[in-house]
Amino acid sequence: MPEAAVESLIEAAWQQCYLDPLAARDLGQRITRFGEPHAATGWLHVALAEVRSGDANVALQALELARRGFEPRQDLPGMRWCDEVEAIALRRSGDYAGSARLHRAIDQCPALTPDLAPEPLLTLLNFVAHNSRAITAKLLGDTDLALRHFYAASDAATQTGMAGPRITALSNLGGYHHDLYNLEDARRLSEQALTAAREARAAPALTTAATNLIIIYNAGGEPSQARAMVDFLRANENELVPGALKRYALPLALGHLAMGEVDAALQHLAAGPVTAVGDGDGMVLWAWLQARCLMARGDATGARAVAEQTLQQRRKRGLNDQPYELMELHKVLADACEQTGDHRAALACMREVHARYEQLVGRSARARFIALEVTHQLAAAQRERDLAVDSRQSAEDDRHRLAALNTALQAQMAETEMLHNKLREQALNDPLTGLHNRRYLFEVAPGLLDLARRQQKTLCVVLIDLDHFKLLNDTYGHQAGDLVLQRFATLLRQMLRRSDVVCRHGGEEFVAVMPELDGDGAQAMLTRLLQAFQSLPPEPGRRRTPNASFSAGIALFPRHGSTLEQLLSRADRALYAAKNQGRARIEMAPRTGFGTFS
Ligand code: GH3
Ligand code: MG
Ligand code: MG
Repeated sequence: MPEAAVESLIEAAWQQCYLDPLAARDLGQRITRFGEPHAATGWLHVALAEVRSGDANVALQALELARRGFEPRQDLPGMRWCDEVEAIALRRSGDYAGSARLHRAIDQCPALTPDLAPEPLLTLLNFVAHNSRAITAKLLGDTDLALRHFYAASDAATQTGMAGPRITALSNLGGYHHDLYNLEDARRLSEQALTAAREARAAPALTTAATNLIIIYNAGGEPSQARAMVDFLRANENELVPGALKRYALPLALGHLAMGEVDAALQHLAAGPVTAVGDGDGMVLWAWLQARCLMARGDATGARAVAEQTLQQRRKRGLNDQPYELMELHKVLADACEQTGDHRAALACMREVHARYEQLVGRSARARFIALEVTHQLAAAQRERDLAVDSRQSAEDDRHRLAALNTALQAQMAETEMLHNKLREQALNDPLTGLHNRRYLFEVAPGLLDLARRQQKTLCVVLIDLDHFKLLNDTYGHQAGDLVLQRFATLLRQMLRRSDVVCRHGGEEFVAVMPELDGDGAQAMLTRLLQAFQSLPPEPGRRRTPNASFSAGIALFPRHGSTLEQLLSRADRALYAAKNQGRARIEMAPRTGFGTFS
């Protein structure tokens, strides 16, 4: 099986572990068959499912196998999960103190960070940790601590974004508020748990919430709601855990009794105190309901016997939980005593009822207070988390926007640069010859002159004009003239240095600016150029082109001027002299008053 398929099995197991433990266990078993590194996670799921709703020994064996996978590779989240499962196992075995000790030991370990495991798995672990500490604290009678952990578990459950933990947390919180007689929160949370469990088809949570609601509605003075919940359970039996109607016969009996349906209640009670709700052993609940039914049938003596036997047994076994049920049992016993004429016993029972009631009301008020306090704290923490996420998100958004802007800007700049270069080239180059144009000459010449000035070097400006070009055009045609212009440009490019600037000055006139060249050098160079131009060989494959000559005038920096305009003007005059003296020649501008570097 490919890696991705194993990963999706593991993902499914995490999704199921607090939704349908048996499904998670089966997935866990399948995962173990792939060997390490996956097997340890598979064994962990088997252990978690078995410890919560299966066989404790199977759970411990699976836990051992999970540890053997995680420990050698120091998988810290995996090892932490194993510790948490072990604490659940200790609690399930009745060792509440041992479970609490292990919790304290775990809480001293360094916190796990998101670099060790994905965030959803860490929040799931956080949920499991709080849920487990809550149940252990509840069993140890530490109400405040239990409530705080139940709320923290609920908060973590919401953060997992998974249905299973959320439903479990709602159901546990609702159930605990019910134990604490805080009917207001109990009712609201259990109704939420019921809805969520129905949506997610989570049978155990649906069953627990529905049966809890019967007791809550009854205690809250809503008998018809309690009775309606009995119908709901019957109508949705296939959505409940298998055999739920038998296992939860006592709440069903209560639902019927609430509406005075004694026969139906008695049918559910016939099997005896076999089932339990929450952590009660069911005995007190059964006795209370049975005694109520007997009273309804006018059998006060029987009712009193049932109630007294149960209370005796409880005293013998030292059990002391479910004060609400105990209160109700004492109430029915008081009624029975009253009916049988034992007013003294009735009075003693009523005192007991009042004591229990005060205890319940005290607990309820405290639970309500803690619920409000913790809810506010969690809401504040959530707001902070939201703010942090928002600012992280908006910082992230800003970064993305900025990056996108930058990219766009860079692309735009590159395009502008390209366009600019193209325009510049078009603006500064002569399309016919590919040489630079006059504008380019006037752009670069000041810089070249500056450089020559600073380096105290000569620079020479040459103006070249092709001879009798009008005649050439007239004789051979304009195209031939163009070709001559192009060939001359090529020759210029070949024979001048790279550092020289050559441009077409207009028509058949050219200018060359040649740094670090003196008069003799320029003369010699132009003479070679003239000879080459006059004797250009015909181009292969081209129509024969006429040979031509040029005349040139040279001006020198600093001798003939210090600006391009001055030098061009002097070169022009020298050129004029060359034309006058018969053309096909090079003339140097005569000396003037300039001539020193300034
Ligand atoms: P000179 O020896 O005195 O310089 O005689 P010239 O005929 O060369 O001088 P003039 O300035 O009278 O004529 C220049 C000619 O150059 C006129 C014009 O038709 C031609 N010409 C200017 N630009 C171009 C061009 O781009 N292509 C062609 N084929 N001819 C051009
Ligand atoms: Mg001319
Ligand atoms: Mg000319």
